[in-house]
Amino acid sequence: MIIGAATTGVLTLAGALIVARTAGIGPLREVLPLTLLLALSWAHPVLVLRTEETEAFQLDEPFFVAMAVLLPAPGTILVFAAATAIGNVVRRRPLTRAAFNIGQTVTAAGLGLAAMHLLATPGAGTSRLATLAAAVLGAAVFMLVNSAAVSVVISFNEAKRAAHVFLDGLDLRVLVWAGGTALGLLAAIGAVANSWALALAALPMAALNLVLREHARARRQTERSHDLLVAANQIHASVAAADVEGAVVAATKSLLHCRAARIDTASPGPAEFAVRLPDPAPDRWLVVSETIGFDRLGPREHELLEVLAGIAAGALRNAWLLEEIRHRAIHDSLTELPNKVLFMDRLQHALDAGPRSGERLAVMFLDLDQFKVINDSLGHDTGDQVLLGVADRLRGALRQGDTAARLGGDEFAVLCEHVGSADDGVVLAERIQAAASGFSVINGVELGVTASVGVVIVEPDAGVSAETLLQAADTAMYRAKDRGRDRIEVFDDQLRNRAYARLETETTLRRAMEEGRLRVFYQPILSGVTGRVVEMEALLRIETPNGTLLGPADFIEVAEQSGLIATIGVQVLEEACRQAAAWRRRYPDRDPIRVAVNMSARQLSRIPIADTVKAALSAAGCSPDMLGLELTETVLMEAGEHVRDELEMLRKVGVTVGLDDFGTGYSSLAYLKRFPVDFLKIDRCFVAGLGHDPEDEAIVDAIISLGRSLGLSTVAEGVETVEQLTKLRGLGCDRMQGYLFARPQRAADLDALIEHPWQVPPELLLAS
Ligand code: C2E
Ligand code: CA
Ligand code: CA
Repeated sequence: MIIGAATTGVLTLAGALIVARTAGIGPLREVLPLTLLLALSWAHPVLVLRTEETEAFQLDEPFFVAMAVLLPAPGTILVFAAATAIGNVVRRRPLTRAAFNIGQTVTAAGLGLAAMHLLATPGAGTSRLATLAAAVLGAAVFMLVNSAAVSVVISFNEAKRAAHVFLDGLDLRVLVWAGGTALGLLAAIGAVANSWALALAALPMAALNLVLREHARARRQTERSHDLLVAANQIHASVAAADVEGAVVAATKSLLHCRAARIDTASPGPAEFAVRLPDPAPDRWLVVSETIGFDRLGPREHELLEVLAGIAAGALRNAWLLEEIRHRAIHDSLTELPNKVLFMDRLQHALDAGPRSGERLAVMFLDLDQFKVINDSLGHDTGDQVLLGVADRLRGALRQGDTAARLGGDEFAVLCEHVGSADDGVVLAERIQAAASGFSVINGVELGVTASVGVVIVEPDAGVSAETLLQAADTAMYRAKDRGRDRIEVFDDQLRNRAYARLETETTLRRAMEEGRLRVFYQPILSGVTGRVVEMEALLRIETPNGTLLGPADFIEVAEQSGLIATIGVQVLEEACRQAAAWRRRYPDRDPIRVAVNMSARQLSRIPIADTVKAALSAAGCSPDMLGLELTETVLMEAGEHVRDELEMLRKVGVTVGLDDFGTGYSSLAYLKRFPVDFLKIDRCFVAGLGHDPEDEAIVDAIISLGRSLGLSTVAEGVETVEQLTKLRGLGCDRMQGYLFARPQRAADLDALIEHPWQVPPELLLAS
């Protein structure tokens, strides 16, 4: 295109020079001012079309018409060549650009003049009117050639159809052409009479130029505002950060007319323009390169870039916030591992894909061994560090496509897909367990953890739910704990049966709850000195539809695992308080009988214990000293700090708290000191040995002495023989409970024992 324009330009120019030798170029008093004015016009173009480079548009028609009438043809062409050259130098157009401009203008002028001469050759024999008419025709050709050339260039640059570009804004161009041509005609007519007329014509030319420039600027501004609004809308409609960046780049390219733009964290290169994004993305730049039509960032472009950068930053903030929220919802905040939600989702996907892929899965449930001890003795920060270490090691042990998740606390889960055989699954589990177990150096101290792992190998067509699988892995993990921790257990038929039995029990339990068949039985606890009932332990039973009874051994574990214990526990508590109040009313003259209620771990973690107890007491009209709570050491160990605080609050108002099954749990004296308790309940396995096992006797003796020195009273449970009773009395045990005195039974059956102190039955006296 450029070469074509330049070549025709050179040819036209050469022709003009040859002809000029005979025809001349016209009087200098006309040639010089015309050259000057035309050069001025070229130095201050009107910008109308779209891209900055090609929209330079001069009011050339008046000049063309005036010169066509006043000067010989070579003069016109040479003036156009000279003025265009000067204008391009002044505007510092690149050489190729200038060559194209000059070539195009000269060619257009040449063709215009040729058309004019076809109609009428100015000079002798041609009427003034004919000359003027021919000049108008020439001006039309001149304008059409110019427009066509410019349209072709724009269509190349913007990949649009040339005809479309040509027609765009043609109405305005025709109007301007008509005005310009008329002005040229008037100037020419005036100049024939007096050369000064040319100078006068310069004024309306300047005015027209100014008005057109203003019009073009306003039109561009309007277009730009509209484009900016559309762009802002598109940018804000993007949800993902990558889409936001894409929309910003597209908007920048179209608004600044550049071929390349990007959002980059690296600062721009030497030939690029950029503005820094404001908060929250100050590490990013909006970079513009391969610009068309400007070689420095003008104030308008700069402003536009700043606005785009501002919009980009705002939209990025929203996108990042959304990403953050989505990430938080499915990841664990401490370890950044997937959380249970994401894990279950991936597991479900893997299960859905199973029948198609025909591949096995392995689902693992990991629980750290005695993590509670680390947390309690070294603090939560240390505990967190240990968890982070485990998470890191798990990540490192995963194969491509496997998922490790933190389910909560010290529980993790791993999903392995593409597991070849069941044995492969076990090998994977061994690797995972080895990774989870390990040492973390925290504050210079080396801390080791081990993990108990339950594994389920899932056949491709197993057709089980994700929930069931995780539960199965959990069940297997529990067996690993039972069998001594720091080991792997695979979910097998035996566990399957147990799981099935558990499900049956849960159904039984739920039905009993719905049908009101939970019963609270009471077992008396007697004073070791007087033999009078001082306390009653509330023990739960289920009455089956055919009237038989189920003991806690049959259902308490399931109640705890299913979480039902929370509801049941509150019912027992309320019932026990009501019974304590009833005994108080029935026996107003004797010391009040205290009821003792058992509390399990899940119960404590699921209900606000202090408030629940106080509510139960006041609903029944009991004073706090009529209630005792029995907790095992393990329960207290596993209870969080706030549970212990709540228990302490209850003790302050008069509720008694004791350690059940004492001697079978952790039995750490350090813990004992921190537990908020009033009495120790010696486990019945030690009581059972009294009289024939000296070791048990020593333990019971030690526990009673320990209680005495810590200011705690002692209770012996499981007293079945007179011999045991005698020993316990001898050792100074405060209270006793056992089949020797009474089995757990309905409250109504206990009146006799309440009314008369227990005495050794004569037949037992004889026997001993
Ligand atoms: P525990 O707290 O150790 O309760 C004492 C258990 O020992 C009772 O069994 C009682 O029947 C039994 N026992 C009492 N005296 C003797 C005896 O001389 N010889 C023998 N061999 N056993 C005796 P039970 O009622 O089957 O309760 C078992 C466990 O169930 C309780 O152990 C307690 O931990 C739990 N439990 C019972 N009721 C509740 C409840 O309402 N809530 C909670 N969380 N746990 C409960
Ligand atoms: Ca108990
Ligand atoms: Ca017990």
